[in-house]
Amino acid sequence: LSEIEIEETINAYVTAALTAKKAGYDGVEIMGSEGYLINQFIVRHTNKRTDSWGGTFENRIRFPLEIVNRTREAAGEDFCIIYRLSMVDLVDEGSSWEETVFLAKQIEEAGASVINTGIGWHEARIPTIAQAVPRGGFAWTTARMIGEVSIPLITTNRINTPEIAEQIIASRQADMVSMARPFLADPDFIQKAADGHAERINTCIACNQACLDHIFQGQSATCLVNPRAANETLLSWQPAIIPKRIAVVGAGPAGMVAASVAAERGHDVTLYEAADRIGGQFNLARQVPGKEEFAETLRYFSGELERNGVTIKLNTPARSDDLITAEFDDVILASGITPRLPDIEGINHPSVISYIDILNGDRQAGGNVIIIGGGGIAFDVALFLLEGHGTSHLDADVFRQAWGIGEDRHSDQPRHQITMLQRTPGSMGKRLGKTTGWIHRLITKRNNVKQMGGVSYHKIDDGGLHIEVNDTFQIIPADTIILCAGQLSNDGLLLPLQNAGMTVHLIGGAKAAGELDAKRAFDEGTRLAASL
Ligand code: FAD
Ligand code: NAP
Ligand code: SF4
Repeated sequence: LSEIEIEETINAYVTAALTAKKAGYDGVEIMGSEGYLINQFIVRHTNKRTDSWGGTFENRIRFPLEIVNRTREAAGEDFCIIYRLSMVDLVDEGSSWEETVFLAKQIEEAGASVINTGIGWHEARIPTIAQAVPRGGFAWTTARMIGEVSIPLITTNRINTPEIAEQIIASRQADMVSMARPFLADPDFIQKAADGHAERINTCIACNQACLDHIFQGQSATCLVNPRAANETLLSWQPAIIPKRIAVVGAGPAGMVAASVAAERGHDVTLYEAADRIGGQFNLARQVPGKEEFAETLRYFSGELERNGVTIKLNTPARSDDLITAEFDDVILASGITPRLPDIEGINHPSVISYIDILNGDRQAGGNVIIIGGGGIAFDVALFLLEGHGTSHLDADVFRQAWGIGEDRHSDQPRHQITMLQRTPGSMGKRLGKTTGWIHRLITKRNNVKQMGGVSYHKIDDGGLHIEVNDTFQIIPADTIILCAGQLSNDGLLLPLQNAGMTVHLIGGAKAAGELDAKRAFDEGTRLAASL
């Protein structure tokens, strides 16, 4: 930026604040962190200027100080200026702690009313808001600033329940907390917490799948566990004009939400679940480090189903004869998937197990592990084997050590030597989440997980897995071969029910197993129930 452009940019910040004030807003937040423009001025990582806006720290912080100063001058004293200050940049040549404290004091003096905490640049290769981060896992950065300034300090990142917010404030780690994603997951978060009904909150599970991943792909943000978020005018429902008797088969994400919304609209809903609990594959997913959060979704839907008066039949595999005899008006098939059993000679060898066996604890993996498949579940299984025994996703101190924040990174010897295989040539994990996939790829890399694409499977025997890759035959020895080879729709009830003249709707994995994820399952379940 030229000198003139810098002046224009500062003026633009001031104008934005004045516009906000004119429109009736009480204040603004100035984004000085996460690697955006102001942050780029502050650190040597990006500020290579040799004029009076670069070089010394005093020069590099002129830009934020001018913005805060002039905004205060223009907006007057009765206007709240929150400055978002990067507490840890998590990139090379970021600010030191001493510089951060110095800047905080200067920002206060320049007229900020409150300092909000920013954590890490988007470019940082340390998780800052993903499931790998423990709840409240960065509150310690704000706590360090207490006493350095006299204006209030807000902390943030991975605060997703009223309890964790309360704990942070009660322990004086910060004066306030800020949240964003939790309000996409549940717009009534504050009201429910204030009413003493925290158990009714639909909790953000930190997946990023429908909010940040959407934003970074040019789509509008919504929420995996609440597809109505940002779609409120397009996806809404009224009481049903003609209440029906509806059977929902399967209490995974698709079936839970369909049953709940249909019953909320006044339909008489019976939910059949073959297992002894609701949740479907979420019960497996929650075994994966970081995905413990999925338990919150099950807690939420358990309450919603009860409140909306759904009749839940657990341990009850629905059979076509029973559904036909019961004369339901509509049947919603949300019966999910069955894991694919690849057609490989020796697939029944005792070393071969399914991802289900390993995640639900029925089988243990040996030292040498092969994972057949390189999709989302394969990476989750690898993570489960590598980190399942650890607590870096639960404990802020262990997280800091594991990711080397402010200290040397601590890593244990991997418990398993893992080889991941896929038939598709090229690198693995390309379809993992835009803002989270790199974390899975980095963890497998650090743990020396071997990944091979372009593989053909020949047979499995006592020697291991026989494969061909690049026209060469190899035998990979293995104590355990875990199948993560995709899934097939479990839609066996469809034809018998249709043949009996019943109205049947397919959602989630039962509708299509390819490219299935919980985002699609929740979305389809919600939209269908809203339309019946
Ligand atoms: P399911 O969850 O498979 O549920 C189907 C239910 O139907 C089951 O409970 C089953 O018991 C029941 N059922 C079947 N037949 C009958 C019958 N005849 N009568 C009664 N009940 C029956 N997705 C994401 O978006 N993000 C993630 O991070 C993620 N992580 C995952 C991690 C793991 C380890 C796994 C296994 C999956 C993960 N998924 C993730 C995928 C996600 O869980 C699925 O996309 C989602 O559960 C599909 O929902 P569904 O309702 O269609 O089916
Ligand atoms: P997936 O991502 O589609 O991966 C399936 C894997 O199986 C692929 O790597 C595929 O590789 C392999 N495969 C397919 N057919 C095979 C065959 N006949 N023999 C051997 N290998 C075969 O599916 P998934 O891992 O089962 O996950 C299911 C769904 O859950 C996915 O859609 C995923 O989005 C979702 N999920 C999401 C997350 C998340 O964090 N967002 C985590 C877990 C699961 P090749 O065909 O190249 O061999
Ligand atoms: Fe939270 Fe996932 Fe919803 Fe984003 S999409 S708000 S991370 S639950």
